[in-house]
Amino acid sequence: MAKKSAKRMRAVVGGDLSVVNLQSDDLANSYQAINAIEAAGGQVMHIFGPGLLIARVPARAQAALKKRSEVRPLRADGIALASEPTSEAEQLGLEAWNLRQSDQFADAKAERPRDGERWDLQEDSVSPDGAGMRHVGGEDVLGALERAVEDTSPYLIGSVAVGLILVEGPSAALQFSDVERTKVVAEVQEGLTWLGSREPAASVTWSYDIQTVRVNVTPDPTLTGYEPLESLWRNPAMGKLGFSQSFQGVRDYVASIRTSLGTRWGYVAFFTKYPLHHFAYASKPRLVMHYNNDGWGPDNIDRVFTHETGHIFGCPDEYASSGCSCSSRYGYLQEVNGNCENCATDFTPCLMAANTWAMCRYTSVHLGWRDSDGDGTLDPVDPLENPAIDLRRLSRRFPAVTSLLRAQGFDLALDEPPNWYESVPLFFLRRVLSTEELARVVAAIRDEDAQYADAIAHKLETLARSIREVGEPHASGRVGRRR
Ligand SMILES: [Zn+2]
Repeated sequence: MAKKSAKRMRAVVGGDLSVVNLQSDDLANSYQAINAIEAAGGQVMHIFGPGLLIARVPARAQAALKKRSEVRPLRADGIALASEPTSEAEQLGLEAWNLRQSDQFADAKAERPRDGERWDLQEDSVSPDGAGMRHVGGEDVLGALERAVEDTSPYLIGSVAVGLILVEGPSAALQFSDVERTKVVAEVQEGLTWLGSREPAASVTWSYDIQTVRVNVTPDPTLTGYEPLESLWRNPAMGKLGFSQSFQGVRDYVASIRTSLGTRWGYVAFFTKYPLHHFAYASKPRLVMHYNNDGWGPDNIDRVFTHETGHIFGCPDEYASSGCSCSSRYGYLQEVNGNCENCATDFTPCLMAANTWAMCRYTSVHLGWRDSDGDGTLDPVDPLENPAIDLRRLSRRFPAVTSLLRAQGFDLALDEPPNWYESVPLFFLRRVLSTEELARVVAAIRDEDAQYADAIAHKLETLARSIREVGEPHASGRVGRRR
């Protein structure tokens, strides 16, 4: 028995995490406990709902947390929820946690197929991603278009909304059993625990929305290509969730879970058994995976899912057949792809190259994890690394800083009106407002947006009319002269 538990601790990622079961049905209340854990130096790794957190809780925070009336005893082993789960996310998050504590799960991880293999090593096994899949915007027209819409995952620091949508079809072959549903969530929990534990300074928290959606479409064997095969089931699924039946519906869904879960970033993963152009691929803000996970199998969903999540946050592939080059730059910090297998002089194991729990130093910078001045704050969120964003604010509060910074050559553009305090991000409001209060704020914002859109439409109509009035006689006159 002792031997088995030792193996379990080795095999399961994040063995020092505990379940925190809160008596709460509103996230705004739960954020008080979340703040207490983080203030004590802990990390809330997963939020599956207001009542279920999975967290690294340091000893001094444990004592304080146990005194809170809404906190059930902290447990590191399998538990049952004290109260009814409030959502599919809470239910599955807990079942996934319990599965991850089992010997069966530990054995599957210890004996996973093709452990350590490079993603493109065997000819009969295809790499994740697939030909022609663009993960991260390049310097071309498509890249510029991608940048024109809001990037909801520029770097991996802070809280992230993770939408997991399991899309089922009408036949048994297209549906998930309860065991498979739990398996998907356990694999995601395993993978994101690993990723979220790599850089403590990044304080990564994954906050989930989980939905099973059944659509009534049959696979169409004449379809080929990523979008035709995906949109067949994705569009009706987005419709069922109340969003437009298009890729814009996917973006709107991600925006909605960022707001409702109160997170800084967001993305969505679709799991399905419908035929796909490739078994796994990603481009912001969504990734898509087939449950069978091709030659890698369901026991490797954790690593393939995490590899694809790397793409969502700006990491390039490093395996040779991806066509990578060491001089191309990626991620928020525009770091070179120095561990690309085609050219790296000191190639090291990395999840972006192989089926392994390892991360090379380039991938961590692609995620935004670099602390140039060594002050404990990562560059993307360090005001001293982002003068254009935060130094103006700093200078207004501390005027003496202004002359100091100007002497250093920073252009602060201080003449603009001080309007920074007028915009408070929605994710921040979510942490202090109840669900009902937040809904009122969101409705008010929509109202204002609609009024603004109306005003713009009116202006455009007026403008179009005046162009027609001026342009018509002139145009017909020109045509007349040519003839
Ligand atoms: Zn990839």
